[in-house]
Amino acid sequence: MARLDGTTALVTGASSGIGEATAVALAAEGARLVLVARRRDRLEVLAARIGGDAVVVEADVTDPAQAAAAVERAVAETGRLDVVVNNAGVMLLGPAVEAPLEEWDRMVAVNVQAVLHVTHATLPHLLEAAGTAPRGVSDLVTISSTAGRAARSGSGVYNLTKFGVGAFAEALRQEVTRRHLRVGLVEPGATATELRSHLREPQRTAQEERFRTMEPLQATDVAEAVVYMVTRDRRTAISEITIRPTEQE
Ligand code: NDP
Repeated sequence: MARLDGTTALVTGASSGIGEATAVALAAEGARLVLVARRRDRLEVLAARIGGDAVVVEADVTDPAQAAAAVERAVAETGRLDVVVNNAGVMLLGPAVEAPLEEWDRMVAVNVQAVLHVTHATLPHLLEAAGTAPRGVSDLVTISSTAGRAARSGSGVYNLTKFGVGAFAEALRQEVTRRHLRVGLVEPGATATELRSHLREPQRTAQEERFRTMEPLQATDVAEAVVYMVTRDRRTAISEITIRPTEQE
């Protein structure tokens, strides 16, 4: 029997990178997957790859109505929610002086507000699943970043969003842990995904150079950390995992 048999796991930003790898890894543990992102075509391909009964939900989770509808659809189709991974995110780096305000708004919308929308809509379902079979516990995992632990020049608003979700996760953890809902934070360092493809120049070239001069994490490395977190025994809560490329300072 796989460790997540009989459970449902919802992953935001499942259309690429860490979200996609996490969905594959959770499905391999037996979870039924609900795949959420805007690019439906990518989600359909992933659902076919996972096989079975994965549910595809096209949604922009920065819109509270779409986030809530995605969660309702997940519960309507699968009957429960045991694991939620708040993964969708954007990283738009550059100096604050003359930065396009739109980039700041977008990071706050995806990295913070969407996490709040999905968390708000999923909490009642996660709490309901926490007390029931097969595990007697449920998991809310947010993908933060090493940028949520240390601020750096040129990364201020990305830092703001990732420090922010870390603070929210810790406060929420204290609130719900006695009800067997575990709230965890995964903080990856540089990972080979599409994330840096949204950067403007010269930040894009700088990031490409950074990735050329060290061996980055693969999305599957981060997915393994999520799986470790959500497959612990009911008595054990892993609240935080920081995972860096060995060569990253
Ligand atoms: P990707 O760009 O590969 O994936 C980002 C995902 O977020 C996509 O699936 C995208 O799907 C989804 N997304 C973006 N905006 C929205 C939206 N409005 N509604 C729904 N989904 C959305 O990057 P990563 O896999 O690297 O990023 C995943 C998370 O990991 C992010 O939170 C990021 O900050 C974090 N992280 C990444 C690191 C890295 O080096 N790669 C390091 C540390 C943390 P779609 O466009 O289809 O909507």
